[in-house]
Amino acid sequence: MVLLQSTAAAPRFDSGRAWEHLRQFVAFGPRPSGSPAIEQTRAYIKSQLALLNIPVTEQAWDDTTPAGRIHMVNLIATIPGASRNRIVIAGHFDTKRYREFRFVGASDGGSSAAFLLEIARVLKARKNPLTIELLFLDGEEALGEWKYPDHTYGSRHYVQMAKQDGSLASLKALLLVDMIGDRDLNIRRDANSTTWLTDIIWATAREQKFTAQFLDEVTEIEDDHQPFLEAGVPAVDIIDLDYPQWHTPLDTLDAVSARSLQVVGDVLLAALPRIERRLASPR
Ligand SMILES: [Zn+2]
Repeated sequence: MVLLQSTAAAPRFDSGRAWEHLRQFVAFGPRPSGSPAIEQTRAYIKSQLALLNIPVTEQAWDDTTPAGRIHMVNLIATIPGASRNRIVIAGHFDTKRYREFRFVGASDGGSSAAFLLEIARVLKARKNPLTIELLFLDGEEALGEWKYPDHTYGSRHYVQMAKQDGSLASLKALLLVDMIGDRDLNIRRDANSTTWLTDIIWATAREQKFTAQFLDEVTEIEDDHQPFLEAGVPAVDIIDLDYPQWHTPLDTLDAVSARSLQVVGDVLLAALPRIERRLASPR
């Protein structure tokens, strides 16, 4: 009885559940933007959010790419908080298109989407001071070579729409996850990310003794956080690009682990109250 009292609060991040989502995404096969498999992926995400009673809206558009016009759809899931101001937790679910080999993106595209579904379950059961938005992004990958504007289609479209409809003003922070499945997880600080957000997350990881996974080394990452940063939204990218299987046929279940998803889940959930406090009293 006494024990229950201290543990009955919010559920923990369960990497077993996240792993099941990841396994499902990989089973759909290659999931590039505009493919039948990415439609299946979206249907799965929507069905899982429906089970959690979390409303989801589709943000659909056609974008111009080096491979022609492609239909893209972001999914926006909202968990209302005490305030309408919101924190967006985002990741992409598309995989890079390859003709030369079969690319299933277990970490690159699979891990981020799986992570968002599981953290949605945890946050749905929590009392949130700010509204939480889980943003599942389409079109992160380039259709050709990674060169502006052939990448981050989903995040650029989202920010453009948020500017147009005025909802950018209530967007207080973006937490982006990408490629967090690597068995040998090493996430470096991204020089492009907002310093105070990065500091909170790395300090939290250090307290949890995850210094082997969250390294103090600095790198510079171009990713879906950039359109948000350019729009003045504090943003951090949690990404392990130090992944030998990156953009190869070997980015499969063998290269990723549930443990890595657990580490990121534990760190992000412990960092969240600190981020919320900082946003409540901006300096
Ligand atoms: Zn990629």
